Amino acid sequence: MSDVFVIGHKAPDTDSVCSAIVYAELKGYKSARAGELNDETKFVLDKFGFAEPELLENVEGKSLVLVDHNESSQRVCGEDSSMVIEIVDHHKFNFVNNMPISILNEPLGSTCTIIAKHHMDKIKSKPKLAGLLLSALLSDTVIFKSPTTTEEDKVIAKELAKIAGIDDVNAFGIEIKKVQGSIIGKPIDSVVKKDYKDFDFGGKKVGIGQTEILDINEAYNRKDEIVKFIEELKNSGGYAMVAFAATDIMKEGSELFFAGDPGIIEKAFGKKPEGNSLWLPGVMSRKKQIAPPLEKSFKA
Ligand code: MN
Ligand code: MN
Repeated sequence: MSDVFVIGHKAPDTDSVCSAIVYAELKGYKSARAGELNDETKFVLDKFGFAEPELLENVEGKSLVLVDHNESSQRVCGEDSSMVIEIVDHHKFNFVNNMPISILNEPLGSTCTIIAKHHMDKIKSKPKLAGLLLSALLSDTVIFKSPTTTEEDKVIAKELAKIAGIDDVNAFGIEIKKVQGSIIGKPIDSVVKKDYKDFDFGGKKVGIGQTEILDINEAYNRKDEIVKFIEELKNSGGYAMVAFAATDIMKEGSELFFAGDPGIIEKAFGKKPEGNSLWLPGVMSRKKQIAPPLEKSFKA
């Protein structure tokens, strides 16, 4: 029998890494990672006393259990699915195989929720594993605020917290989100470009950056800097517009800073911007709530 590795997606997040560690532990497999860990994940592993899983670069001769992903573009094995023996995931499915394998795919807030749901009997006596699962659940659901959160996530989180000995689940979630949730002291170019994407909206080049923070005042305090930077970026990069969303995960909304035609912004969000920005209540997702209305506005 070849080595079995449990592994999450490329550009690993906390759910990918914690689900791999816990599932490997439960099944007697090895855990692996598909890339560098982010600071939030490092913090969680440190907190519960786990080492980083090994970086898996060569998959030859190995068997893989995929957690938190299934599509080829996110896999270490790429197009080749022949070494995949099992999948546990909460994403839409796009997996082609030529032999039957075990697949557990449920529309829950995190892969760790699925693992907890199906292995609670074993996890009951393992507070550290429960801690990892809870951390990932809170991370993926943005402390239950993401529209992907289900009632089951909330119930399971309570159970995990009890096992892990965590009294205040919300406070613990904030502790985790805090690790990457501040822009204080960070250079403005890295703040805007940390999570930044170029779009083509009807032939117009539009850039949209986003950051999740715990206190929107951090963004207001640096408004002049942000606006100056995105103005320069717009002019030097041949953009029709550059936008930057500072998403406050506590207030559940985004301040959208922009460089470009305010009329486009007003048309997109039905609200007149004040100067170079506007507050969008309830807007958390660039993919679902920012890019689509902007695209529509540019094409109108
Ligand atoms: Mn993930
Ligand atoms: Mn996930």
